[in-house]
Amino acid sequence: MNIHEYQAKELLKSYGVRIQEGIVADSPEGALEAAKKLNAATGTSWYVIKAQIHAGGRGKGLVNETGSRGVVLAKSLEDVPVKAAGILGGTLVTIQTGAEGKKVNKVLVAEDVYYPGASEPKEYYLSILLDRGKGSNVIMASTEGGMDIEEVAEKHPEKIIKEWIDPKVGLQGFQARKVAFKLGLEGNAFKEMVKFITYLYNAYVGSDSAQFEINPVLKTSDDKILAVDAKVNLDDNALYRHQDLAALRDVAEEDPLEVEAGKSGLNYVKLDGNVGCMVNGAGLAMATMDMIKLSGGEPANFLDVGGGANAVTVEAGFRIILQDPNVKAILINVFGGIVRCDRIANGVVEAYKSIGNIPVPIIVRLQGTNAEEGARIIDESGLKVSSAITLKDAAEKVKAAIS
Ligand code: GDP
Ligand code: MN
Repeated sequence: MNIHEYQAKELLKSYGVRIQEGIVADSPEGALEAAKKLNAATGTSWYVIKAQIHAGGRGKGLVNETGSRGVVLAKSLEDVPVKAAGILGGTLVTIQTGAEGKKVNKVLVAEDVYYPGASEPKEYYLSILLDRGKGSNVIMASTEGGMDIEEVAEKHPEKIIKEWIDPKVGLQGFQARKVAFKLGLEGNAFKEMVKFITYLYNAYVGSDSAQFEINPVLKTSDDKILAVDAKVNLDDNALYRHQDLAALRDVAEEDPLEVEAGKSGLNYVKLDGNVGCMVNGAGLAMATMDMIKLSGGEPANFLDVGGGANAVTVEAGFRIILQDPNVKAILINVFGGIVRCDRIANGVVEAYKSIGNIPVPIIVRLQGTNAEEGARIIDESGLKVSSAITLKDAAEKVKAAIS
């Protein structure tokens, strides 16, 4: 689960990580109030207004309606509500949102931390994530902060520092020092970076996160190290241990079809293709998507209806898949192990009748217990549904349906 920048920064701060301070607002007047409070608390007289959406690239992104960027500087209190009005309620398009963009409901009014001083402010990159291949957490860091890290990884892989941390042992002091050293830091900035990395790692472990990305981490002109941005991805499987974090969920940021599927207990991920699919079991669902591709189609979704598929879940699945206008055919691929194929077949027929007119062909491939009986029920239903028993047969029928 993703959370907003302002929520992520609060989480980091609660673990002692130094952040660019800010206050969230949902109106231009609220933004002005936030700026006044921030001025009283930090003494700042320049402010950064930052769109709060679950996507990066905001600094370079544009708000459709006003042409404002998603992150802008206000150099006076009076300018704060003006700049906030250019972002709030608008649709922000960034390289990560897709062309349709995302509606901005909140802005973070933050202190300006790029003030002049003894040295130039300098941006770094820092992330912590799970390296599944190594069964370890990994800290990734780079002096090329503020930039698109994928581009750095491609063009200058040597500029990405990696430090693996055994989760059983935890982050060792020497590891944090090694990263800070490789980033070329000295003196107080070095010490600050070691603290920053240590507290950040504590926050990552303490919140059961799957990924942290802090880009940029800033070395201020007076050698403080702080998080200017924060992308936090929490591990969904551990949310039950963190009711406070689970409460930060913002459904407005999620795909509406995925939210609806979640309510019906379905594991659905929207994709861009033309063949909808409904499968029991995640592994079989992956194999089915491969098969759709092999037959010349593109999967429109991933959908695992789970082990106890019945008429109600099948109907919910149909309804969700059919809301996607790109779908030209639906493939149902169910292995009757715990659940019998004839029950699934009856469920499909019932769901079909309950929905009424389904405008696209449906191919049902049932295998396992009572497969033949299931196929007979489908074939004799008189509906626009065809059955298949082998995967090859199903693939050919999908191909015919979309060509
Ligand atoms: P992203 O574009 O979505 O990754 O948003 P960020 O939070 O990373 O902000 C984008 C950019 O805004 C940063 O890389 C900085 O260059 C700039 N920025 C952020 N905070 C400040 C600030 O306090 N002062 C100034 N002058 N620029 C800032
Ligand atoms: Mn950023």
